[in-house]
Amino acid sequence: MNRSVLVTGGNRGIGAAIARAFAAGGDKVAITCRSGEPPEELTSLGVLPVRCDITDAEQVEQAYKEIEEKHGPVEVLVANAGITKDQLLMRMSEEDFTSVLDTNLTGAFRVVKRANRGMLRAKKGRVVLISSVVGLMGNPGQANYAASKAGLVGFARSLSRELGSRNITFNVVAPGFVESDMTAVLGDEQRESVLGQVPLKRFGRAEEIAATVRFLASDDASYITGAVIPVDGGLGM
Ligand code: NAD
Repeated sequence: MNRSVLVTGGNRGIGAAIARAFAAGGDKVAITCRSGEPPEELTSLGVLPVRCDITDAEQVEQAYKEIEEKHGPVEVLVANAGITKDQLLMRMSEEDFTSVLDTNLTGAFRVVKRANRGMLRAKKGRVVLISSVVGLMGNPGQANYAASKAGLVGFARSLSRELGSRNITFNVVAPGFVESDMTAVLGDEQRESVLGQVPLKRFGRAEEIAATVRFLASDDASYITGAVIPVDGGLGM
């Protein structure tokens, strides 16, 4: 398709699968990489890694400048970067709460706002925000994470109403439990407990999330905005 696509947190896990899927479809893909070396499997596909911590507005600005120089203005943005800092409420510090919000929700605000500069000028754009089934259902020990992920839904729906007339769509994908570094920390007991509640009786694969994201950025999804699509094996229904 040859579009300029940015996937935040695209250096591993779900983000890397999303970056791979767009690159395989012929798009010009950039990923943010907070630290370390970008994975060779992505750079060998021509994916452009840009250094960027999305909690830092200046780094976001620099990253966009680099992408615009090399690929042109971002036409498809996938706000995927996210963190967890799980803790029961009475043990959760204010920093545990605000740092998760700052990355997952305000981080999305920073990258979406900057992308919209070019999208408004182009009079088109596609934004996909990666939320979580936890943002819709809640989960003990994840009040900070759930609040940030639920926040993305209100954020996307407000922007859908605000910018629909400008031909920019905002959709949310809400993954269930997916095999990745984020879920690798779960113990056997926790995994069994999750699987007991998932109708499809398995964790998801990052590629299954990527397929839905690509659909939402495709022409087939041209009349979809403000949608929240669970890709969760039925967990959240
Ligand atoms: P992961 O921990 O493997 O990857 C997270 C990515 O975000 C990494 O690339 C990391 O570097 C990046 N990131 C974190 N903070 C950043 C910052 N400040 N600036 C730039 N990049 C930053 O996790 P994952 O499982 O691949 O998760 C990807 C997204 O999917 C996250 O938003 C997560 O909340 C969401 N999600 C994951 C699951 C799951 O089961 N794995 C379920 C639901 C939602």
